[in-house]
Amino acid sequence: MKRGYISIRTCKGCGRKAEKSEFIRLVWCEGALQEDLDGRMSGRGVYSCRNEKCKKRLAKKKKNAEASISPSWIT
Ligand SMILES: [Zn+2]
Repeated sequence: MKRGYISIRTCKGCGRKAEKSEFIRLVWCEGALQEDLDGRMSGRGVYSCRNEKCKKRLAKKKKNAEASISPSWIT
């Protein structure tokens, strides 16, 4: 049996690994986190679970990164 190629992605919000199809791609565009619904947006994309918790965590993470603050969100 030949297995099809599965793209594994990591949620940058919680670190969970899963198939690409389980995640949504988010792209940072002009300082805002936008969902890349058809995968065509350019820019730095990150993957997130399909829930608000991870998306919000990502937004927070980005904020910290921009301010060069140590990742205090890791507890
Ligand atoms: Zn997640």
